[in-house]
Amino acid sequence: MGLDAPHDADTAPPVLEVVGLRTRFGVRDGAIHAVNDVSFSLRPGELLGVVGESGSGKSVTMMSLLRLIPSPPARIEAERIMFEGRDLSRLSEKELRGVRGRRIGFVFQDPMTSLNPVFTVGFQLMEPLRAHLGMSRAQARKRAAELLALVGIPNPEPRLDDYPHQFSGGMRQRVMIAIALACDPKVLIADEPTTALDVTIQAQILELVKDLRSRIGAAVIWITHDLGVVAGIADRVMVMYGGQVVEYAPVMELFERPTHPYTRALLETLPSLDGDRADKLKTIAGQPPLLTAPPASCPFAPRCAQAHDRCRAANPPLIAVGPEHGAACWLAEGGAHGA
Ligand code: ATP
Ligand code: MG
Repeated sequence: MGLDAPHDADTAPPVLEVVGLRTRFGVRDGAIHAVNDVSFSLRPGELLGVVGESGSGKSVTMMSLLRLIPSPPARIEAERIMFEGRDLSRLSEKELRGVRGRRIGFVFQDPMTSLNPVFTVGFQLMEPLRAHLGMSRAQARKRAAELLALVGIPNPEPRLDDYPHQFSGGMRQRVMIAIALACDPKVLIADEPTTALDVTIQAQILELVKDLRSRIGAAVIWITHDLGVVAGIADRVMVMYGGQVVEYAPVMELFERPTHPYTRALLETLPSLDGDRADKLKTIAGQPPLLTAPPASCPFAPRCAQAHDRCRAANPPLIAVGPEHGAACWLAEGGAHGA
C-alpha cells in the first residue's frame, strides 16, 4: 500500500511546497473564497491523495498552483509555491508556461474538454514534444507511440492518426495521462473525472498511475471524491472541506485514526467491501458552506454533531495529532481523539 516510494523520501526535500495559498473569485456582489490558506508539500515519488466532496476546492487549489484559472475573476495569492528551486507564485506567465505540462503534468477533470476533438491524438501528443523538447516530427511521432504503449493502448502507432471520439472514455483518460507524461514531468496532477466512468476502468487507471509512478519516478497528486479510491494507492492523504485542508495523514493512519469529524463522516459513506452500488449513495447530511466570506468559524460546524461554542466562534488551525498527522478540529486539542 504505497510503500514503494523511495525510503529516503521521508527526509528528502519536497518536490513541491505550497504555503498559504488563497484563491478568491470576484462575483457581482462580493467574492467566493474558494481556497483559504492551503499549505501542503509533496515528496519525491510519493502519491498524495486529495479528497473532499464537490465544491471543497480540490481542483481550484491545484489549478491555482499553475495559474490555470483566468484572473480575473480569480485572484490567486500565496506566501510561496516552491518547485525546483523557484517560487511559482512569482513567475511571469511566460516562465510559468515552461513549467505547465512540461515539469508539472496535468490531467483535467473532463477528458472531452481537454482533448481537442478536431486534432488527432497523435498531433496532441506530439505538440508538447516538439514545442518543449524540440523534437523533430519523426522523433516526436516515435515517442508519441511509445507513450501510448506506456499507458496501455494496444497497437499504438496507427492509433496516433485517430481522433479523440474514436477512443472510449477510459482510453481517452489514458491518452490524457500520456500527454501529461510526455515531457517527463517531476509532478503529475490528476483530477479524477466526475463523469461516471465504469468502476473497473477507474481501477485500471489507478493501477496504471501507480505502476507509472515507480517507472517514471514522478510524484503524483491524485484528486478524487472517494476516500475508498485513495486507500489502495496513496502514501498520504489530504482531506479538504470548504476550501481548507481539514486533515492530512499517511494513508494507514488516516483510516486507523480519522480525527476530523468530516473525515469520519467521509469514511462512513464508504461502501462496505462487498457492498452494492446503492451503498455509494450514502451522503453526509447538510449543505457545504457558501464560501462568500473568509471562514471565521469551523466550516464544518453546521454539519458536525460534535460542534460546540468554540467551533462556531473560531476556525481551528491544523493541530498535530500524531507524527505527520494533523487535523483542523478543536476536539483534536490535547489528543481528545488520540489513540
Ligand atoms: P468537484 O469534486 O465537484 O470537482 P472541487 O473540490 O474540485 O469539486 P472546485 O472546483 O475547486 O471544487 O470549486 C471550489 C469552489 O470554487 C466552489 O465553491 C466553486 O463553486 C467555486 N468556483 C470554481 N470556479 C469558479 C469560478 N470560475 N467562479 C466562481 N466560483 C468558482
Ligand atoms: Mg474538481
